[in-house]
Formats: sequence, structure tokens, C-alpha cells
Amino acid sequence: MNDKPLAGKVGLVFGVANKRSIAWAIAKAWHEAGATLIFNYQGERLKENVEELVSEFGEDVALAPCDVSSDEELKTFFDWVKTKTDRVDLLLHSVAFAPKETLAEPFQNTSRENFRVALDISTYSLVALAQHAAPLMTQGGSIVAMTYHGSTKVLPNYNVMGVAKAGLECAARYLAYELGPQNIRVNCISAGPTNTLAARGIKGFGSMLDIVKEKAPLPWKGEAAALAGTGLYLVSDASQFVTGQVLYVDGGYEIMGM
Ligand code: NAD
Repeated sequence: MNDKPLAGKVGLVFGVANKRSIAWAIAKAWHEAGATLIFNYQGERLKENVEELVSEFGEDVALAPCDVSSDEELKTFFDWVKTKTDRVDLLLHSVAFAPKETLAEPFQNTSRENFRVALDISTYSLVALAQHAAPLMTQGGSIVAMTYHGSTKVLPNYNVMGVAKAGLECAARYLAYELGPQNIRVNCISAGPTNTLAARGIKGFGSMLDIVKEKAPLPWKGEAAALAGTGLYLVSDASQFVTGQVLYVDGGYEIMGM
């Protein structure tokens, strides 16, 4: 088997915050498979962290700020991308946010503004990124977005993020339909609870992880590294006819009834 299945490919990675980020685990797999990567970071606060991490990859990497809630920043980012490459092949959407109180208070108390923010950053951003990236995917491409089981089942405290993830999965299907003729695939990975910065913002995350550890058929540890292989599969030729899907990578927890 080719040990560099992504040689010659250019990938955009959205969502590295630190070394625990799911985006970082998948980016490492893409890099090891031979892809050249371009990263965003969300604002100056995260710049140093992300810069230090990606320096592991040597010269063959670029990064720039991009807050996905800003049309202006998206445009500036993609204008800059076009100065680095004339083609993009892969895109990882590993970005989500909901105001903290929405992940602790009863769902029924969600304000209009907090609902808007959560769905703008966590759901609409996939559409916005696809709008910018698809025209650069001139030889076809693959878009991967991170989702969670709270999209279809009630997981206490996940609340408005469940609504956002349901929207994300649905958006992935519509994008897959429309971009298929350009040979651009769009899929979601539904990750089991993984110990990251974003996860720690969810009230009771520790018990979510404990329950999955206890009930999943496979020994789920809650580590981002568990997602890397599927992240690679979904952008490699091995999945060339897979699109619009949600793949569960959760140790099998999703199949359990109790
Ligand atoms: P993380 O905190 O490492 O990553 C979240 C990223 O979203 C950060 O890099 C942050 O900068 C970025 N982000 C938030 N708001 C942004 C904005 N306005 N503009 C640009 N970037 C923004 O946490 P993670 O767990 O690696 O999360 C990555 C993805 O995986 C998210 O979509 C999350 O919902 C999903 N996910 C996580 C888990 C889990 O248990 N950790 C499970 C399933 C799905």
C-alpha cells in the first residue's frame, strides 16, 4: 500500500487550538500521508499555540487567522490561501462554539442570540467554508466535518449544540448533493466524547465520557488520536464513493440501547 496516499494534495485545517484538538490529530495523519497543510487559528490568543504546534511540520506549512463568524475574515483568509496555492484538495471543519451558559442551563432557556451564535459558528461555517473552498477544488476534493451523537439523541447539557450538529449533518448532505458533480465529497465524523478544550466547556462532560467508556463495545479512551485514521480514510481514494455520510467513531457506543 502507498504510505503517502495524500502526496501532492493540499489541505486546509480549521480548528486547531492545542495539542489535544481533534483537528491536530487529523492534521498529523494528513501530514504523515504526504499532504501540504494550511491552518487557520481563531484570533491572536491562539496564534502562538498553533504556530508552535505546526512548526513540527517544518517549512512545508502555512497559517493565518480566521474567525469563521466573520465574512470579512473568511474572505481575507481565502485571498491569502490563493497566494499560497492554486488548488485545494482537502478541508477539515473542526470548529464549534456555543456560549457557556447554553451548555449548563436547561435547553428551554436558550436565548435567541445564543442560539444564533451557536448555529452561526458551528453550522453555517461549514457552508461558508465550502463556498470559499469548492471553487479551489478544481480536481475534486473532500470536506470532513466533526459532529456528535447529540445531533440525534438527547444528551443532557449538550443542548443547543445538539441542534447545531443536527444542522451540520444536514448541511453536509445538501453540500454533498450539490458538490458531487464536481467530485467533491462531504462527510461527517461523529466522534465519541474526547478530552479537549471544547469538551471541557460542557457541564458533566466527565460523566459523558465515563458512560461511553463503560458501555461502548470497544475500549474508548476519549483521545483525539482515535479519530485520525477515519479522518485520513475520508480524504483518501479508499472512500472515493462515500459522500453525505455520518461515520461514528465512538467505540461503537452509538449502537447500544442500554
Ligand atoms: P477544540 O477546542 O480543540 O477545537 C474547537 C475549535 O473551534 C478551536 O480550535 C477553536 O478555536 C475553534 N473555534 C471556535 N469558534 C471559532 C470561530 N468563531 N472561528 C474559528 N474557529 C473557532 O475542541 P475539539 O473537541 O477538538 O472540537 C473540534 C470539533 O469536534 C468541534 O466541531 C466539536 O464539536 C467536535 N466534536 C468534539 C467532541 C469531543 O468530545 N471533544 C465530540 C464530537 C465532536
